[in-house]
Amino acid sequence: MKKITSLFLVSFMVLGLVACANNGGSAASTEAASTEVAGEANNEVAASTQKLIMCTNAEFPPYEYKEGGEFLGIDVEAAKLIGEKIGAEVEILDIAFDSLIPTVNSGKADFAMAGMTVTEDRLENVDFSHTYQTAVQSIIVPVDSDIESDADLYDGKKIGVQLGTTGDIYCTDDFGDENISRYPKIVDGVQAMKTGAIDACVVDDQVAKAIIASDTSSFKILETPYAEEEYAIAVKKGNKELLDKINAAIDEIMSSGELQAIVDKYIK
Ligand code: GLN
Repeated sequence: MKKITSLFLVSFMVLGLVACANNGGSAASTEAASTEVAGEANNEVAASTQKLIMCTNAEFPPYEYKEGGEFLGIDVEAAKLIGEKIGAEVEILDIAFDSLIPTVNSGKADFAMAGMTVTEDRLENVDFSHTYQTAVQSIIVPVDSDIESDADLYDGKKIGVQLGTTGDIYCTDDFGDENISRYPKIVDGVQAMKTGAIDACVVDDQVAKAIIASDTSSFKILETPYAEEEYAIAVKKGNKELLDKINAAIDEIMSSGELQAIVDKYIK
């Protein structure tokens, strides 16, 4: 099993350095999408009408998904609550997972929240908030599969992942590009296991559970997880003012138990 949790210590050290190096960073936030959000002086009054655009990929239950035209999930509710704490209304932009970081960087969204794992590579392109959830990459296989752990995936097995995710990055690295099938949504990969096109899927644990919940007679989740990770919100590099506000709000909803109440609604 890959262990990347220690990355977090490194992450925050890097963030600290970046923050120090970015005194002029608030200019970035004034370009950001919607809003004169972070980065504007005197925004106390404007705060109540402020809008923040959150980009996400609503194909990732229980964190973000669409039902009856409405966005639901842990991230969606947590983001709205964070918005309330900041004094901003959060608007959702639903895009492909691998477009999230470019969209934040282009200023078309103020932040990305999508069960997004902090990785060293991503830290080169965006700044991450405090961690708000932990996760592990899980392996889903057909119920009758003889695959018992990630060790069995080295044997030329065909693995389905969601494009651009850590599942994609780690599996490509470990098992070779030729063995990886990439899907815009992991649910399509799970369906591909039914036809025998692929042997396994690698995806975040809670998402794996949510996806196979309705089909436990066809699929199982292996008990040996594949990688440990932590989720955080991404903002444009140097947007320290927004990041500070988001961090304060995350700290508040974590210590008050408000975040846990949202998680408990979606993860029984
Ligand atoms: N946690 C994984 C990642 O950050 C998957 C996220 C997702 O598919 N929404 O890459």
